[in-house]
Amino acid sequence: MSIARNLEQYQKKLTDTGCKLIAVSKTKPIADLQQAYDAGQRDFGENKIQEMTDKYALLPKDIRWHMIGHVQRNKIKYMASFVHLIHGVDSYKLLKEINKQALKNDRVIDCLLQVHIATEDSKFGFSDDELETMLSDELFVALENVRITGFMGMATNTKNETIAQNEFRGLRELMQKIKSKYTHTQLALSELSMGMSGDFEIALQEGSTIVRVGSAIFGTRDYQ
Ligand SMILES: *Cc1c(COP(=O)(O)O)cnc(C)c1O
Repeated sequence: MSIARNLEQYQKKLTDTGCKLIAVSKTKPIADLQQAYDAGQRDFGENKIQEMTDKYALLPKDIRWHMIGHVQRNKIKYMASFVHLIHGVDSYKLLKEINKQALKNDRVIDCLLQVHIATEDSKFGFSDDELETMLSDELFVALENVRITGFMGMATNTKNETIAQNEFRGLRELMQKIKSKYTHTQLALSELSMGMSGDFEIALQEGSTIVRVGSAIFGTRDYQ
């Protein structure tokens, strides 16, 4: 199995879609990331801040690092200087801390709001109501060092494609609705981060602009 060949296949599938490919490299060794880099890949996704920070230190500085996992508030400071996009923002408290650390680093950090779209309980994310509550609050408007560039969602892990399709579609429609309803300056909604190795084709059909693909590029992981 060749990482470069897998990447090439995915890039081909995404040609003309305008959708970006994030290579999810969590648990994988530096050598694997370097192979992907040498094949032209520049967007990498990690789900642990410590691991991403370690890899950032060792790899070329033109890599765009995506934090795709659940974010621990006390660790945001370690990635605040370099993270490209935080996909898993699921509370106001978290966003507030990201804003604080962004300010300290004299920058604006791009974030996606993670919305709970799956029927499974275990997944993180805002409910529609929680989302609207935050966006309607003036505390949100005061956050000037974050920019919300879109939404992220994980569909139910199921072989039933209709379920995933409806969940992804729901996220796209929700973003449309929010976009027409709220005009805060920190909302620049255009990205939909949805789709992974198992369901990226369905996500693509439903308007995904960012797919997060791990095992189909790097091979299976020993642990999540
Ligand atoms: C691990 C992970 C992925 C990639 O999963 P694969 O099935 O290996 O493609 C995508 N998104 C998130 C949030 C992840 O944690």
